[in-house]
Amino acid sequence: MKDYLIVGSGLFGSVFAHEANKRGKKCLVIDKRNHLGGNVYCENIAGIQVHKYGAHIFHTNDEAIWQYVNQFVKFNNYVNSPVALAKGKLYNLPFNMNTFYQLWGVKTPAEAAEKLQHQIEQYGVPNPQNLEEQALSLVGKDIYDILIKEYTEKQWGKKATELPSFIIKRLPVRFRFDNNYFNDRFQGIPIGGYNGLINGLLDGIETLTDADYFADRTYYDNLAEKVVYTGKIDEYFAYEFGQLEYRSLRFETELLNQPNYQGNAVINYNDADIPFTRIIEHKHFEFGTQEKTVITREYPQNWTPEKEAYYPVNDDKNQRIYKQYRTKADTIEKVIFGGRLAEYRYYDMHQVIASALKTVKNEFQNQ
Ligand code: UDP
Repeated sequence: MKDYLIVGSGLFGSVFAHEANKRGKKCLVIDKRNHLGGNVYCENIAGIQVHKYGAHIFHTNDEAIWQYVNQFVKFNNYVNSPVALAKGKLYNLPFNMNTFYQLWGVKTPAEAAEKLQHQIEQYGVPNPQNLEEQALSLVGKDIYDILIKEYTEKQWGKKATELPSFIIKRLPVRFRFDNNYFNDRFQGIPIGGYNGLINGLLDGIETLTDADYFADRTYYDNLAEKVVYTGKIDEYFAYEFGQLEYRSLRFETELLNQPNYQGNAVINYNDADIPFTRIIEHKHFEFGTQEKTVITREYPQNWTPEKEAYYPVNDDKNQRIYKQYRTKADTIEKVIFGGRLAEYRYYDMHQVIASALKTVKNEFQNQ
């Protein structure tokens, strides 16, 4: 009999398993896929680490989290600086002096601020209720029309007026010539890919792949005293309060016989008439010098149960449903729910790790 059965070997499950194992607990980690690591899993294609379930760029402001991951793997000094292609022109992201120059020809922060302020006064609202209002209030109409509206509606399959505003708060606005997408102190990609991080976390712990928890739930539940469940919370409860909504993605990956396709790891395609949102050129995450390159086009798509659930859709309707599941989950002592799918949160990696460490602290507070 194990102490913990951990369902799902992504970051939440792997961090929990590592910490439990460290405290002498016996764990079994299962995953329905044929590999460990959840969505941070990397596949080696022609010597290039391909982020198979979408680009993952590690960033955090929390030194303890940074040190935590650095125990297992070394990180390179990659800084995410995506470029956006919109209406035939390239723009730097996030919105910074380079973008303002490209948009309006303004050369100083004062000129840029004046231009932005003018637009915000004209189009902004005092108390933004949705993503469109939030964006107009943050960056005005030009940026919204060229760089936000079409990308966002393509990404989420919903009108920007129907989306929660917090999604766009992720994007910084900066009056410096600085294309670093994140404001965090620490950033990078694990050297050799994310599998090193997962293997480090799960070192010495029993794992089982191709193991579908729902195919034989009673069997799996009986293997351990407690379960750590990191899958979709609505699926755990057989959708009894209704299905939560997710956004899915389809990835089209190609190995190309050329060393450099687009000169950057991430190029966003912001226009509505192009069906993908971005092309990832994986080698640039690790400054690769291979003769070939691998690119992935990322197509947003509606989620249906046979597809991967990538993004939770945290609007009011879904939050209400989630609350019902959460309330029920809190009454089940034998099961710990955590991670992006079980907490129904649009988490970055560092936030998932923080959540897992918090859970560990609660679980082992007396030890
Ligand atoms: N976004 C946008 N234009 C861009 C990039 C992002 O409008 O060129 C908006 C869009 O609403 C998106 C959100 O910012 O959903 C967050 O994007 P990010 O790339 O940071 O999120 P990820 O998909 O990588 O989690």
